[in-house]
Amino acid sequence: MLVVQKFGGTSVGDSARIAAAARRVRESRARADVVVVVSAMGGETDRLLAACEEWGADDAREYDAVLASGEQICAGLTALALRKIGVAAKSFSGKQAGILTDEAHGKARILGIDTAALRAAVAEGITPVVAGFQGRAANGDTTTLGRGGSDTTAVALAAALAADECQIYTDVDGIHTTDPRVCEKARRLKTVHFEEMLEMASLGSKVLQPRAVAFAGKYRVPLRVLSSAEENKNGGTLVLCSRSSAMEEPIITGIAFNRGEAKITLVRVPDRPGVAGRLLARLGAENINVDMIVQNISHDGRTDFSFTVDRGDYAAALECARGAGGDIGAETVTGDEGIGKVSVVGVGMRSHAGVAAKMFAALAEGGINIQMISTSEIKISAVIEESRVDDAVRLLHDAFGLENGAEEETTQTPRGE
Ligand code: ASP
Ligand code: MG
Repeated sequence: MLVVQKFGGTSVGDSARIAAAARRVRESRARADVVVVVSAMGGETDRLLAACEEWGADDAREYDAVLASGEQICAGLTALALRKIGVAAKSFSGKQAGILTDEAHGKARILGIDTAALRAAVAEGITPVVAGFQGRAANGDTTTLGRGGSDTTAVALAAALAADECQIYTDVDGIHTTDPRVCEKARRLKTVHFEEMLEMASLGSKVLQPRAVAFAGKYRVPLRVLSSAEENKNGGTLVLCSRSSAMEEPIITGIAFNRGEAKITLVRVPDRPGVAGRLLARLGAENINVDMIVQNISHDGRTDFSFTVDRGDYAAALECARGAGGDIGAETVTGDEGIGKVSVVGVGMRSHAGVAAKMFAALAEGGINIQMISTSEIKISAVIEESRVDDAVRLLHDAFGLENGAEEETTQTPRGE
């Protein structure tokens, strides 16, 4: 049996936490071979980033050289902590672990993993401690995988090593129906389907990096989120890749939300082909990700065109929109920096009607105005005023009865009774 155990920034935030992580690894080693992946100590990546920014120019190669060091220091320290308590351990940078990436500094993609060195260590009874978040490009340069990338390292290693489980140790005890800091009735989920997890991660639940979840789904890596602070007798949350037929699916699994968004509207744009394309090309050229897009029905040959972006991109997006608006002949361009998004997510939605009606009724009851709506097969999102996001989350959590734990009860019922 082989498990990959990943410890996030807070779980290795200081010497005491590193020692606790090391004890957990030693305990697991009684049952399985372990490959450890670590993030940089909490706050370290931000500190290194700020140190780079002091020099102004955004030189991606050197940024990566600096940023990758955070994880390397932590890997070395964790290996020392393990050795101190009698566990044979050895640190590996991403490069030494055989993680090959493309050359896109700051957001590199993993192309392949040469696991020979890690396998050799494990075969010798040595526990490898791999620096997350990084790899090596074909030209030998160090690359990083984007913020939160250690999750991806862990999942990718678990896939490449055909590990029995990839365990993500973090500062929460699993995935919840929603953020417990916003809604006190939030409940830990025993299991969550990977598609739901992917939606929830992308929609603002910050526990797992969306890319890592996508990777786990693609390679069917059993992924478990656990608390590094607790005993974890409850088993955390298991992200499932296939659906178990024994499980009665709740219609809605969770409520995700994101506060920091912004909306831009091109008012009274001539309704003719190419308008959306031109605007989006400009935004794309500035590397601005557009989230929702809504175009109204046209009345007198003109239409309103709205889209949302991350608040950090607001100023740049507004500039693009003004430029494009001028070219296209929009009457005006308006913006609103104070919006957020709430989303209900659940694979059970596929087979149940009426979810949208219930969601919108709950929001209406709370006097919350819906500005934009977008849907996929397993989620419905609404853009609302930012100041109402917390209320909306609580209202929806109640409306869909998420505190009741139907799923836990079902899975705990002994089979065959
Ligand atoms: N240390 C990196 C970050 O803060 C990677 C990670 O923690 O996963 O983004
Ligand atoms: Mg993280």
